[in-house]
Amino acid sequence: MKKYGLIVIGGGPAGIMAAGRAGERGLKVLLLEKMRSPGRKLLITGKGRCNITNNAPISEFIKHVHPNGRFLKHALSLFYNSDIINLLTKQGLEISLERGGRYFPSSSKASDVLDALFSWMKQYSVEVKLNTSVQELLLESDCIKGVRVIRDLGMEDYYADHVILASGGKSYPATGSTGEGYKIATQYGHTLIEARPSLVPLVATESFVEKHHDLRLKNVRASVWINGKKVKDEFGELIITHFGLSGPIILTLSRTVVDALRNRNKVVVSIDLKPALTDKQLDERLLRDLDENGKKQLITVFRLWLPGNLIHVFINSLNLDPSKVCHQLSSLERKNIRKLMKNLPFNIVGNRSFKEAIITAGGICVDEINSKTMESKLVKNLYFAGEVMDLDGDTGGYNLQIAFSTGWLAGESAGRLIS
Ligand SMILES: Cc1cc2nc3c(=O)[nH]c(=O)nc-3n(C[C@H](O)[C@H](O)[C@H](O)COP(=O)(O)OP(=O)(O)OC[C@H]3O[C@@H](n4cnc5c(N)ncnc54)[C@H](O)[C@@H]3O)c2cc1C
Repeated sequence: MKKYGLIVIGGGPAGIMAAGRAGERGLKVLLLEKMRSPGRKLLITGKGRCNITNNAPISEFIKHVHPNGRFLKHALSLFYNSDIINLLTKQGLEISLERGGRYFPSSSKASDVLDALFSWMKQYSVEVKLNTSVQELLLESDCIKGVRVIRDLGMEDYYADHVILASGGKSYPATGSTGEGYKIATQYGHTLIEARPSLVPLVATESFVEKHHDLRLKNVRASVWINGKKVKDEFGELIITHFGLSGPIILTLSRTVVDALRNRNKVVVSIDLKPALTDKQLDERLLRDLDENGKKQLITVFRLWLPGNLIHVFINSLNLDPSKVCHQLSSLERKNIRKLMKNLPFNIVGNRSFKEAIITAGGICVDEINSKTMESKLVKNLYFAGEVMDLDGDTGGYNLQIAFSTGWLAGESAGRLIS
């Protein structure tokens, strides 16, 4: 019977980091990955460019992690952004800092990050078995003994002193993250905080654009209204799609929206198309353009004010006659145009599925995990790392850093008895 010091379940960034660190500490490590190749999700991060981490200080970082960023304080204090950058740099990867404090590989290739991580891990003689899906843990008197897997030839058991569960969440299931880790952990008493899609596009009743004719709006402000009360807003870029809303600021707002919809609240996302102008400044601008184009048709000035796809939305919703000339526009009509420019509402009725969610909110409850070691408080020598836990970050490299820091700490803790 072959026995290991540590078995890691899942070959994503958290699992690779955990396996590498435990190997570095001298443990004999087996990494089990159910797909044909490891790190499939890592390969599609940052649109294939991989936003590795963020340069925010830890006190700022934890504000971008939900629902309890403070749980990560110890893990981040031991292994943070400069540590992952050093590790990757030592593997020959060049890294660049971009807008918003985001780090990317200078090659803009996520595959280079995966290759660097994997070759770092392999130098510590970590054994890797692919096409191997862990089904359950093997326990003896509430202490880990190993895992039971399915491979081509059927069931097999592997034995180890420690197991790290790094099986990811439920989003983008085609990459292998299908929520199996939740079943494994809950079989042994862990609590699952309901998994919900997050950083996900939103579905609205209004659909202004045809499929494949998405409308990208830059420098706008989107506000979330729940039951008539404004709760959150973001400034930046969004996309109006055939089903509703997407793009960076919508993804950031989606966590609040998904939870509000689950609680059966009425949600409206309103877009301020002219956030740089006060109501008065906007009125002055409209008046100036209308005066300068007095004899021309209304459609002419709308082209100065709005992207093409939105003009018919304004004309239709405000019941305007597009053939009217500018100086015939009444002050009430001008006021209504102004109001809609500052507040273009979308009634949100749902969100897209896990297939399109960048991250999973929810997961294994962190109250049952020791934040100093990542060890389970319920099962001795079982550890957690990465997205399988109830921790989700905003966009900006936060989620990968969570995977790296918790993976490193879990590997370090499993290996601590060796040195
Ligand atoms: C489109 C997209 C873009 C993203 N871009 C970024 C970005 O630029 N920056 C950022 O910080 N974050 C980004 N993220 C989020 C980030 O990719 C994840 O948070 C991160 O991959 C989580 O790492 P993990 O190792 O915990 O889980 P995963 O990467 O999901 O890895 C889990 C692994 O476990 C394996 N597994 C599951 N069950 C079993 C089992 N029973 N037995 C064996 N193996 C199993 C899976 O096949 C998978 O390989 C993005 C996510 C998506 C979907």
